[in-house]
Amino acid sequence: NALSFELYKDFPRRKPVKRPLRIAILTREPKNYSSQRLKEVAEARGHVAEMINTARCTIAINALSPAVYYDGRKLPRYDAIIPRIGASMTNYGMAVLRQFEMTGAYILNNAEAIGASRDKLYAHQILARAGIGMPTTAFAHSPKDTKNLVSHVGGAPLVVKLLESTQGKGVVLAETTKAAESVIDAFRGLDANFIVQEFVKEAAGEDIRTLVVGGRVIASMKRKAQPGEFRSNLHRGGEATRVRITKEERRTAIRAAKSMGLAVCGVDLLRSETGPKVLEVNSSPGLEGIEKSSGKDIAGILLDHIESHVRAVSVPRRRT
Ligand code: ADP
Repeated sequence: NALSFELYKDFPRRKPVKRPLRIAILTREPKNYSSQRLKEVAEARGHVAEMINTARCTIAINALSPAVYYDGRKLPRYDAIIPRIGASMTNYGMAVLRQFEMTGAYILNNAEAIGASRDKLYAHQILARAGIGMPTTAFAHSPKDTKNLVSHVGGAPLVVKLLESTQGKGVVLAETTKAAESVIDAFRGLDANFIVQEFVKEAAGEDIRTLVVGGRVIASMKRKAQPGEFRSNLHRGGEATRVRITKEERRTAIRAAKSMGLAVCGVDLLRSETGPKVLEVNSSPGLEGIEKSSGKDIAGILLDHIESHVRAVSVPRRRT
């Protein structure tokens, strides 16, 4: 049908495997939309999909037979792992992922790439090194540098972001230099790690989320903040609508995903006077907003990607 033609046009490089796969979804939120959709689509295709809570995994590090235990029981070998690791579990989640990788499973997004994208400071450096447009960003260790930080990004208005921020919670707009200095001093007083960033005013409370899978943009949406709010996160009441992105935006999103080494990611861009500026590359993009606004079967496209990247034969048991 038309949809599967769309999908296979996107992935002509490898033949998808036809055998039933054993897939684990690494998540602490088995009930959320994305986890449920992935499980549903996998099972509808005859695969076995299990939800594995990262926090309940124990890893046995051993050169001959790497294994992951779950509540004390050894987990079977999986053909593929779908990591949906929350920010609070990044480090342990990466260790669990590396362990699964050693068992021969195909990992949708490897541990190093997830770690790089989660470290805001490092992620900005990777993007800059790849020559990808982003809002001018500054960071300092010394408490004496407040004035320099403000001037590095061209003065107020500017945005201050906690490095640990997710869902827009730690993102503050300072409209005047005085306000900027107060916010920076306050964050410093709390020993918080943060970056200072040029405010892209012309974005006007809107950003673009593009979903990149296997080096291609498969869907995009525009998120618009509520009136009076500059943060367009859906968790903050932002509204998602369908959008057509430009060639330059598409190219930027693909390059951002590639520079981070992520097979699957959401790339957030602002539309600025000087072209697209990347805000963030998200290694566990939510599926709900983008499936509903684009009308596409995104979970199905992710499964296509997995089917075309797992080993052609089932993972053999290693002799010990
Ligand atoms: P988080 O990781 O907490 O979601 P983001 O950096 O994605 O933080 O910022 C949240 C939202 O705030 C963005 O989706 C965007 O709408 C807005 N925003 C962030 N940075 C800027 C900026 N430099 N200029 C204009 N708007 C911004």
